[in-house]
Amino acid sequence: MKYPEITNFIAGDESLPKGRTLEVVNPSTGQLLTRVPLSGAEELERAVAAAKQAQPAWQALTLKERVQVFFRYKNLLEQHREELSKLVSEENGKTFSEAAAEVDKSAEVTEFACSLPQLIAGETEEVSRGVECYSQRVPVGVVACITPFNFPNMVPNWTIPNALALGNAMILKPSEQTPLSANRLAQLLQEAGLPDGIFNIVHGAREIVEGICDHPGIDAVSFVGSTKVAKIVYSRSAARHKRVLALGGAKNHLIVLPDAHVDMTASNVAASFTGCAGQRCMAASVMLAVGDVDVIIDRLCDEARKIIPGKNMGSIISEQSRDRIMNYITEAEAQGAKILLDGRGAKVPGCENGFYVGPTIVDRISPDMNIACEEVFGPVLSILRVKTVDEALRIENASPYGNAAAVFTQSGGMAKYVIERVSAGMTGVNIGVPVPREPFSFGGWNDSRFGVGDITGKSSLEFWTKLKKTTVKWNPEAKTNWMS
Ligand code: NAD
Repeated sequence: MKYPEITNFIAGDESLPKGRTLEVVNPSTGQLLTRVPLSGAEELERAVAAAKQAQPAWQALTLKERVQVFFRYKNLLEQHREELSKLVSEENGKTFSEAAAEVDKSAEVTEFACSLPQLIAGETEEVSRGVECYSQRVPVGVVACITPFNFPNMVPNWTIPNALALGNAMILKPSEQTPLSANRLAQLLQEAGLPDGIFNIVHGAREIVEGICDHPGIDAVSFVGSTKVAKIVYSRSAARHKRVLALGGAKNHLIVLPDAHVDMTASNVAASFTGCAGQRCMAASVMLAVGDVDVIIDRLCDEARKIIPGKNMGSIISEQSRDRIMNYITEAEAQGAKILLDGRGAKVPGCENGFYVGPTIVDRISPDMNIACEEVFGPVLSILRVKTVDEALRIENASPYGNAAAVFTQSGGMAKYVIERVSAGMTGVNIGVPVPREPFSFGGWNDSRFGVGDITGKSSLEFWTKLKKTTVKWNPEAKTNWMS
C-alpha cells in the first residue's frame, strides 16, 4: 500500500517540512511505501516551543484528570488493533500476529498508566509534634524519546502513557526506517482528548537526535536503540545536564542443562531466536549447551524447520541488515563452526525483492568468534558447547551486554543457582523471551542500559517525575526546636 508523504506532528498539526526526505520501504516486499522528512533544527525548535507552551496547563490538571485521556487511548488502541498491526507489519516486515502482540503490549502499558493515581498517592507523616512532611511527584517538563525500528508501535508506547499521564510534554523522534506508526498514535492521542502540543513528533535521523541531546529546552531524554548510539545519546545529553535513560543492544544467553524438558525447551528456544526474525533485544542469541544436550538440539532443529520466511516469519529490516547477518554466518562457518540449519539465501515466492534470512542454527562456535560476542540481530542461534554450568556462567558474565538471560532445567536448585549468577536485568527460567509484564519494569544491565532505573513499570516513575518534599507547620504556639 502507498501512504501519503509523512508529516511532522507539532502542536496538533500535521505539517510537511521543507527539505530532504528518505524512502520508507516495506522490507517484506521491497516496495516503496512513502517518504519521511529528514527534519532539521527549525522543526525541532518549533516542537520544543509547542511542548513548552502546552505543558504548564497540562501539569495544572490533576493526575486523575490526565489519566482519563489514557483510558480512552487504551480503548482506541484496542478498537484499531487490526489497522495498527497491519501498519506495523507493512513498515517493519514482521508478521501480522507479531505486530498484533506489539499493539497488545501497548494497551497493557497504557492500562498501567491508568492505574497511576492509585500507585503514586504521596506520603504524609507528622515528623515532629505539629509538623508534617509530605511528598509529591512533579513532572520533569519537556521530555524527548528516541526510538528504534524494531517495535514502531510498542517502544514509543513504553514511554508515552506514563510520561504524559505524569504531566510531561513529549517530543518523539521515531526511527526513520519505521516512521508510520508514530503518526497514527499521535492521531489516536488527539482523538482521546490529549491537548495539542503535549505530544509532538519530529521525524529525522542523526541531526535531530543530536539536536535533542543539546537543546536547553528539553529536560529529559529517553533512548532505545543500539549500544553504540545509546552511549552517544547518554554522554551528550548528560553533558548538557539532562536526565537520560538510554537502552542499548543485547547479546542474550540461554543456558540449557541436560535435565531440561526436551519439548518445552526446543519450542521456547526456537520461538525466542526466530520471533520478529530475531530483531528484538530479548531474542536468544547464544545457547550455552551444558554437557550432552544433543536430543534437545535435534528437537530444536525440528522446531526451527517449521518456521518459514513469508509464512510464519517476517523479513529483515533492510538489505544492509540482511547482508550483515549473512556475513556473521559465513564468517563463523569459515572459522570451523557447523551449520545445522542454514537460512542464507531464503526466498519468498512473490516477494523476490524482500529481505529474508531463514532460521539458522550454528553449532560448535568458540567464545572468541564475532558471532559469539556481537549482536547479530537476526534469526540466528549460535550454540556454544560447555562442560559445566560454571563455564557457561563465566561466558555469560564476560559479555559486555546484560539485557536478558535464561536457564532451561527441571531442577529448582539449579535454576536458582544460575539466576543468582547471570549478569542480566531480565532473567527467565524455562522461558525464551523473559519480558517482564506490567507492573514489572523493562530494562537491562551493563551495556544494555545507561542511566538509572527502567523504562516502564513502577521503576520508570522516578525518571518521569521529580520528588518534591514539603514540611508544614501551622501552630505558632508550638516551640521551635532544631528539628522543626
Ligand atoms: P539505532 O541505534 O541504529 O537507532 C535508534 C535511533 O537512533 C533511531 O531513531 C535512529 O534514527 C537514531 N540514530 C541512529 N544512528 C544515530 C547516530 N549515529 N547518532 C544519533 N542518532 C542515531 O537502532 P536500530 O537499528 O533502529 O534498532 C536496533 C537496535 O535497538 C538493536 O541494537 C536492539 O538491540 C536495540 N533495541 C534495544 C531495546 C532495549 O530495550 N534495550 C529495545 C529495542 C531495540
